[in-house]
Amino acid sequence: MFSPGISIGAELTNEEMRSLFKCGNMGGMRRSKQTGTLVIISDDTKGLYRDVWKNGVLHYTGMGKVGDQVLEGNQNETLYYSDTNGVEVHLFEVLQKAVYTYRGIVKLVDKPYKSTQPDDNGNMREVWMFPVMPISEMAQGISRELSEQEISKLSDKELARYASVKNVNKEPKTTETVVYYRDPYLKQLVKRIADGKCQYCGNDAPFLDKEGQPYLEEHHVVRLADGGKDVIDNVVAICPNCHRKMHVLKNETDLVVLTSIASHNRRQLEKYLGISEMYERKYKKHER
Ligand SMILES: [Zn+2]
Ligand SMILES: [Zn+2]
Repeated sequence: MFSPGISIGAELTNEEMRSLFKCGNMGGMRRSKQTGTLVIISDDTKGLYRDVWKNGVLHYTGMGKVGDQVLEGNQNETLYYSDTNGVEVHLFEVLQKAVYTYRGIVKLVDKPYKSTQPDDNGNMREVWMFPVMPISEMAQGISRELSEQEISKLSDKELARYASVKNVNKEPKTTETVVYYRDPYLKQLVKRIADGKCQYCGNDAPFLDKEGQPYLEEHHVVRLADGGKDVIDNVVAICPNCHRKMHVLKNETDLVVLTSIASHNRRQLEKYLGISEMYERKYKKHER
């Protein structure tokens, strides 16, 4: 491990930085084989790269001034693999011209991702973004959140290890949710039409609710959040298992089936209202 012998917050000139880290004196990412380091510089005064700090994480823009940035054959690749290639990444920030403020060693805290930013000619292009965090600011237990897919691939041991880390410092997430109005009469009507059986799988409702009614759930074929309407054409009554399935898989074939069930519900409603007979009578009148 290379120790530059300066403390975090130290302000260096370009030349001091170069001689300390034995790196080049140009560019925002400077690799030094001699010290085993990669110095990355987040320079606010240059204005080409749009680096942003979010919740203590610096989203650092990779190198490449013109055209799409690439990973291969440059320091973007070094940074990308810095978890495993043994290269220590040191961050400097430039907030006023030619003053390089040392932020210490940083580590990737999430997967690098692609974004778009204008290049040196003002054309929009693809850039690589590297979410890094100074290790001095990494409190216990803050590591990157794995995706559900990644979690499913962990070994039993890894999974147990992750599960036993108490994430006491994690803030609860608050999300804004829109609560759509759902017509209670419509809901009851559809359940009545279903007559105690799931309209999708045909099985009996799994249990009776507190009112002694077969427990089925109302489901909107096209979700209200996606612009679906709270009308009989769009509502079915299904069992909790099928309901979960619809929301988890969002399967096209299921959608077709549900749509036809919903239109059956509509015909049933018309029957209750006596509309269909009214239409028939009208029609017959015209015939005469
Ligand atoms: Zn079902
Ligand atoms: Zn639903």
